[in-house]
Amino acid sequence: MSAATNVSAHATSWSTRASLLTIEGRAFIDGKYVAADSGESYECRSPIDGRLLTKAASCDVEDVNLAVASARRVFDKGSWSKAPPAIRKKVLQRFAELIQQHTDELALLETLDMGKPIGDSLAVDIPAAARSINWYGEAIDKVYGELAATGPTELGMITREPCGVVAAVVPWNFPLLMATWKLGPALATGNSVILKPSEKSPLTAIRIAQLAAEAGLPEGVLNVLPGFGHTAGQALALHMDVDVIAFTGSTRTGKRMLEYAGQSNMKRIWLECGGKSPIIVLADTRDIARAATAAAWAIFFNQGEVCTAASRLLVQDSIKDQVLEKVIEVGRTLKPGDPLDPATKLGAIVDTLQMDSVLKYIESGRSEGADLVLGGTQTRRETGGYYVEPTVFDAVSPRMKIAREEIFGPVLSTITFKDVEEAIRIANDTVYGLAASVWTRDLSMAHRIARELRAGSVWVNCYDGGDMTVPFGGYKQSGIGRDKSLHALDKYTDLKATWIDLS
Ligand code: NAD
Repeated sequence: MSAATNVSAHATSWSTRASLLTIEGRAFIDGKYVAADSGESYECRSPIDGRLLTKAASCDVEDVNLAVASARRVFDKGSWSKAPPAIRKKVLQRFAELIQQHTDELALLETLDMGKPIGDSLAVDIPAAARSINWYGEAIDKVYGELAATGPTELGMITREPCGVVAAVVPWNFPLLMATWKLGPALATGNSVILKPSEKSPLTAIRIAQLAAEAGLPEGVLNVLPGFGHTAGQALALHMDVDVIAFTGSTRTGKRMLEYAGQSNMKRIWLECGGKSPIIVLADTRDIARAATAAAWAIFFNQGEVCTAASRLLVQDSIKDQVLEKVIEVGRTLKPGDPLDPATKLGAIVDTLQMDSVLKYIESGRSEGADLVLGGTQTRRETGGYYVEPTVFDAVSPRMKIAREEIFGPVLSTITFKDVEEAIRIANDTVYGLAASVWTRDLSMAHRIARELRAGSVWVNCYDGGDMTVPFGGYKQSGIGRDKSLHALDKYTDLKATWIDLS
């Protein structure tokens, strides 16, 4: 059944289905669900209304040691690491199929756990997660090594080998999708993986461990450790037998990962971090309403909890009023609602900490003198959950805190510019460099601006375009390395040069 059919078929029943779910909260180590070695667990509550979902294992050093030992054992044995690519392909394709077959259940878990609308979990998160696993499974038996350009008496072979034990440490905003952007290429290339989901959203990661086993992944190849950053996350990053950290999360934690590598075994650290992405709208834009609608969705989708959220609207001064009017009109239609209602477009903020942080930024915008023209407050308090209205500031100066720091919530800062040079200067004036978008009818101008922008992804007359075929990642403090596409394979493989004397 397709995701779309699911939505309409079960339009009224998601709450009932949620109440019938049995939710697994234990870790998955060496092919089995187990409690944390210490017996410790923590309450996993839903941001929808504060309900208790389950108690998740609070993994720490001992669990990390067990998972790493299991991952290393199977890696050395070679049942996965040395399996022919065609075999790995079959297992990963089966894994992707199983994710797809469990779309309803996984979507429900995702929505309950982090508060995003069920319609998005069904139509975006789970299908894209399945696609990521499938894409790398499909690709891996088509990736060739190289022969060096040697003379006739020698042979130089360049081959890719799996790195060994990979720890994937991921955030809560797209819990399963961010995990599968790592799992796809890491598993396809033959590594063993330990997945540490965010403590705020561990449920889908825990669930898919069993689906992976069912698909035929040998015991120990995929371990899942729920737990906190300062315990399980740090123990993984400091472990002497973890070869790679594939991280997605905040720039602050990303910097810590680099320190941990220096303090331990110089493991490779790949970072997908924060952003403060600009959407630049030039006065010659063909369809201003379309650009403004895209700008509104680019900040409000997923409650603004998106690394590439277009949190800075850079608009040429002559069309500012027109653009802003439309952004506000769209924003008004996006009232936060019950995430389990398929009609809801904006859900809950992941937890009270994150909501308080967003509200503090809104307060800072006000006190620094920006004009609040939409939203600005918490809403749906009666539910016991965490909701913030779509919020728009006008008259923001590029020096204000709301224009410089990642808010990670539904808050837009509108900044005007006079000419293209000024737009480029403001767009690049940030420590981040994840994404940017340009709207103009002049293709030469679009090319020129795209080249000047210091960002890993630049979208022209669209926002957030792309699929598995294009790399994704950041310049500057938005990260190191790329997810998606064949470029991601570089993160999980070592290059070996074998030189043979044929004389
Ligand atoms: P976070 O940095 O707080 O946590 C991310 C992960 O790191 C979690 O699993 C957490 O438990 C772990 N962690 C936290 N502290 C740690 C420590 N000291 N040692 C080891 N692990 C630790 O980030 P978050 O709040 O979960 O996610 C939001 C951030 O993620 C935003 O900055 C967002 O931009 C970024 N993000 C980036 C991308 C991207 O592809 N560039 C995608 C999604 C989210």
